[in-house]
Amino acid sequence: MPRFNTRIAQALSEREQQGLYRQRVCLTRNAQQVSEASHTWLNFSSNDYLGLAQEPSLLQAWQQGLTLYGAGSGASPLVTGFHSPHAKLEQQLAEWLGYDRALLFNSGFSANQAVLFTLLAKNDWLLQDKLNHASLMEAGMLSPATMKRFKHNDVAHLSRLLSSAAQSDAQSDLAKLVVTEGVFSMDGDLAPLAEMAAVSQQHDAWLMVDDAHGCGVLGEAGRGSCDLAEIKADILIVTFGKAFGLQGAAVLCSEDVAEYLIQFARHFVYSTAMPPAQAYALVHACERIQQDQWRRDKLVELSDAFALALDPAIGFQNTPTPIKPLLLGDSNKAVKISQALKEQGLWVSAIRPPTVPVNSARLRITFTANHQLDDVKRLATAINEVMYD
Ligand SMILES: *Cc1c(COP(=O)(O)O)cnc(C)c1O
Repeated sequence: MPRFNTRIAQALSEREQQGLYRQRVCLTRNAQQVSEASHTWLNFSSNDYLGLAQEPSLLQAWQQGLTLYGAGSGASPLVTGFHSPHAKLEQQLAEWLGYDRALLFNSGFSANQAVLFTLLAKNDWLLQDKLNHASLMEAGMLSPATMKRFKHNDVAHLSRLLSSAAQSDAQSDLAKLVVTEGVFSMDGDLAPLAEMAAVSQQHDAWLMVDDAHGCGVLGEAGRGSCDLAEIKADILIVTFGKAFGLQGAAVLCSEDVAEYLIQFARHFVYSTAMPPAQAYALVHACERIQQDQWRRDKLVELSDAFALALDPAIGFQNTPTPIKPLLLGDSNKAVKISQALKEQGLWVSAIRPPTVPVNSARLRITFTANHQLDDVKRLATAINEVMYD
């Protein structure tokens, strides 16, 4: 028997024994619900924060894009896959977010990997928050750079690491890159960006911010975490699968970094460009995000109502984002409570290791601008009941 079979069977059975076995559920969806067969749940587990994924004008824009530009882009961007909606979207993103250039990628995962792999060389130092996204961690581990992880949001620790980098290699021209998320996806908290930008600058390091969960949701006109903290990151990653309600990502950077990525980033050069109709729909999503302040206001309103309705004994720590983690620790408990909420018609996913650190299993509750105040109150009431059952 080939070794692969044994190894695979063993890994699967271990996962099962640890209570960490994961399965997809095939769902259909509308504005704030999901359903499977005859069951329907209120959905508190999507990253569609602004409720744009089902926004009629956005669907219409995508349809119109299909009529105007066809289905697929047909090639990678350097061959014949770069079309006028891509150019327009890049220009719009650069202007809105305040950068020389924006460069489109097919996913946030590939944008993160492209930047780290292309930028980092041997002897460089990469400093990452411990809770950074898997795409960043994996790229860091596989890159030739020396990767150090600093404690979550701990600027003093980051500063110490940057100092030790300077001592370890004073002669060479080592480059240092600090990478953090703007909003942490599993905790809903913000990185201390102003302090991190100052420390990075002090040590002559570049700061890269992955704002997958902040762009659209925070800051003036939805510009995101950096705008809120009043800093400009050297490199900013925005993704379109969350608040934009679509799919894809962009790297915001200087003229030279954009040109460098176009020459050398393999995820960019050797991957088919996103469909032009998708870029066309994204142009529309950018406009909605900037104009629809009510969507951001609504999220704040929902957040306040939820925190107020929860039993204080639960010890919930509110967050400044639509991501509301309810920490439980034990994976089985998280699954049990998620199940109990499901029986009450509420879909809240349990998040377990290895997505989050060991012993920090949680419910990850997310709100969208499509939720009603009554929806989040109903959720809080249900949590108050099932928590101590
Ligand atoms: C979702 C996410 C990504 C990946 O983006 P995709 O477009 O879904 O591939 C990257 N970074 C963070 C912080 C994310 O939450």
